[in-house]
This record gives sequence, C-alpha cells and structure tokens, in this order.
Amino acid sequence: MRVIEDLKKLGSSIVDLVFPVSCIVCGKDGSYLCEESKNKLTRLEFQQCLVCQQPAPFGKTHPQCVTRNSVDGALSALTHKNKHVHKVIEVFKYNFVSSLANPLSELIVKTINKQGLEGYFEDFIVVPIPLHRRRHNWRGFNQALLLAETLASKLGLKIDNRMVVRSKFTKPQVKLKADERKRNIENAFSLIGDVTNKKILLVDDVITSGSTANELAKLLKRAHASEVWIASAAHG
Ligand SMILES: [Zn+2]
Ligand SMILES: [Zn+2]
Repeated sequence: MRVIEDLKKLGSSIVDLVFPVSCIVCGKDGSYLCEESKNKLTRLEFQQCLVCQQPAPFGKTHPQCVTRNSVDGALSALTHKNKHVHKVIEVFKYNFVSSLANPLSELIVKTINKQGLEGYFEDFIVVPIPLHRRRHNWRGFNQALLLAETLASKLGLKIDNRMVVRSKFTKPQVKLKADERKRNIENAFSLIGDVTNKKILLVDDVITSGSTANELAKLLKRAHASEVWIASAAHG
C-alpha cells in the first residue's frame, strides 16, 4: 500500500490510470464523486454560529457572540454527520485524493451564493488552515491547502499559504472531547507578515467545534486583521 500512497502523492492522474476509480458514494465508475452523488450529499441544514453553536443567518456570528477572539462568520456546505459525507472527506483527507478538492470547493461556492453572500468576499485573502510541518512532511499533503487553492480560483481571490504557520504540534481535534479541543489548539499558530486591515477567509475541510477557527481569528485580530471568516466543506 505504501507504493500506492507514494504514487498518489505524485498525482492522482497517474494512479487513476493504474487503479480505475469509482464513486465513493454509489460505486459508479469514472470518478471519485459522480455528479449525481455530489448533488445528493446532505447539505448542512443551517449555518451555525461558532460561539454559541446556534443557527446563524448568513453564517454570521451573532452580534452578541462575536468578540476579538472569534470568527466573524462561518460557512459550511455539508453535514459531517452524514455517513456519505464522512466517507468523502475521509478519502479526501487520508487517501490523498486531490481531485475531490474540485467538487468540494464547488459545493462551498454554492453555499456562499445560497446565503446571498455572492461578492461579499471579493476583497478577502484566502488562507488555508496549516498543518504542522512535521505532519505535512509525513503526509506530503494538506487537504485544506488544496481546497483553499481551488476555492480561491473559483472565487477569483488571492491565496496566502504562508501567512500562518502551525508552530505547536497538536493532537488531531477530531480525536478529542469538546473541552479538550480548545486547550489543545491554544497558541498553536504563529503569524508571518502584516495583516493590518486585511480581511481573511480561512479554509478547512471540516469544522468540528470551531476552536481552531476561533484560535486563528484571535491571532489575526490581535494583529489588526479587520474581518475573519471561515469556509469549510463540512461541519459537525
Ligand atoms: Zn456516485
Ligand atoms: Zn451565537
């Protein structure tokens, strides 16, 4: 399997020639996520405030919840609680299937438009949630970066993947209980460069508790970023 994983890092097109692909959801040949299954993936019922976890119109953090330590808004396309969504994200993340970045970022764009936020992010800079260097070297793949690249290109936005680095090696958030997540991620990131008056759109594959997004928002806002949002493929 090691050989297959190494090949996948070279580029999925080569691997696809040797190992024919089929849809993760329905098994149909031809792609990892067929058009029909993509459109049937369970959408997130309502956007959520990442402070109180209650429904938030337009994904905007409630006026009574937003602080210098929180994101100003969060948008996610799919519910991670659905088993098909879970599987798609898992394959994207752990099987290095880079071609999934395209349909997933397409679903994020649809969500932005559905919330009536078309054009809202036009002066934002796209910033992927970074992996720690050690984890990135080991995996050779940051799914958040890939998603951020395709999303930025679809929205016509600039991307900056050097603005934040993960300086603390942390445990994966998904493996922790809610109260442990905040502690785990605290002071995990450092900032490189000037973000004064900049608007930032963070991108990740999955939002769990929102602790990671809020931790980064705190760092960016302390450095005088004017607005920080996060967009993700799935939430939950
Ligand atoms: Zn399918
Ligand atoms: Zn709230």
